[in-house]
Amino acid sequence: MKKLVLATSNKGKVREIKELCTEYEVVPYTELIPAFEIVEDADTFKENALIKARAVYEALGDEDVIVMADDSGISVEVLDGAPGIYSARYAGENASDKDNLYKLMEDIKAKGVDSSPAFYTAAIAIVTKGIEKTVHGWMYGTAITQARGEGGFGYDPMFIPLGHDKTLGELDNEIKKKLSHRSQALSLASHIFRVL
Ligand code: IMP
Repeated sequence: MKKLVLATSNKGKVREIKELCTEYEVVPYTELIPAFEIVEDADTFKENALIKARAVYEALGDEDVIVMADDSGISVEVLDGAPGIYSARYAGENASDKDNLYKLMEDIKAKGVDSSPAFYTAAIAIVTKGIEKTVHGWMYGTAITQARGEGGFGYDPMFIPLGHDKTLGELDNEIKKKLSHRSQALSLASHIFRVL
């Protein structure tokens, strides 16, 4: 089984990527080396994913290892695309998922509406010997101002995917697995893994 090292220790992402990549041995890099700070200072999901994947690839010091990074976030139309690449730190540098969720719902309410079109983006970067690749996936839907359900992670309790009337917090995990920005991007990434 090919080993994929993930350049993240975000539990929600690691769980989802493991569930979606069953053909691979998926290992968060923190199981191999101590966690270190990676400054994601680019202005696109793609470049931030590459920054993470390159940093972990170099730190591991094994040129044959395959490293995969995911940079993702939510963009809300009524907020001109915010929080976008700032999704993880929307309510401040050390904000929790809950802090970010409540700030986003408050900011939408402050625009005088109780919902807005929104979408999630996931950029996945794959770095290994002599190779750097990136792919993207998106999921469209509606951001609402009341959290519903306990499933998923991050902004899922306030996000209703297109074609559904429940939030990702309420919907069965199998539905998110089929629809999500991360699963769309991973399905493209799987074509790249096959030829590595
Ligand atoms: P990153 O770790 O820098 O890529 O930050 C991702 C941010 O977007 C985190 O705040 C996540 O909570 C949020 N996010 C990304 N994907 C999802 C998802 O599938 N559901 C809910 N929130 C997500």
